[in-house]
Amino acid sequence: MLETICDILVDAYKRNWITSRDGNVSIRHHDRDHFYITPSGVRKQTLQPDQFKKIGISQGSHVTPIAIDLPYTDISANLKPSGELPLHFGLQKKMGQHKDEVRVVVHVHPTYCIAAMHAGIDLSTISDAFPELNRYTKVAPNVGDVPPISQELADQCHKNLQLDQKGNIAYDIVGIKGHGVVAIDTSPWRAYEHIERLEHICKIVLASGKYGT
Ligand SMILES: [Zn+2]
Repeated sequence: MLETICDILVDAYKRNWITSRDGNVSIRHHDRDHFYITPSGVRKQTLQPDQFKKIGISQGSHVTPIAIDLPYTDISANLKPSGELPLHFGLQKKMGQHKDEVRVVVHVHPTYCIAAMHAGIDLSTISDAFPELNRYTKVAPNVGDVPPISQELADQCHKNLQLDQKGNIAYDIVGIKGHGVVAIDTSPWRAYEHIERLEHICKIVLASGKYGT
């Protein structure tokens, strides 16, 4: 699935959802005590599976899990994990409703989602009017202005997704004002489709001119 993640990031680049070095993705299989995350600062058009970083999740029920950079490939040894590691780690350390599956977390900067938040729209409020969105995708309330690659961004995203101690989440996607979105599902393309659906509806809402007060 690392190749599929490379494919979705190329697709995101072609859609102008990221510039070359933006965006990050993580993936965990339920029966592994590690996950993979995209490296920091690498051009997404040329990202290769052997560049991913392998992150261990420390064991021990009485200890707060911590992320450990594990050896993976010679190429990845010279790279750092994405700066949004705290965001991904919080969602990957316990898999919640995906505990028997795979969990994929995708973060990109889709144009119309960000434009809608910039225009004052809470993305969680627009799905009521659009069944093609709300049938498949649960949208969390927006996260406000938080610095990129910060623990604050991670904490606010986790809170708005209603992430609990077991890793359960109440939503499929959350928007971060002035920044982007984070989507979660059981495969790269499923997570990607939440973004695509929300982006499509945001484009329609903005085209209608009927929003805001
Ligand atoms: Zn970002």
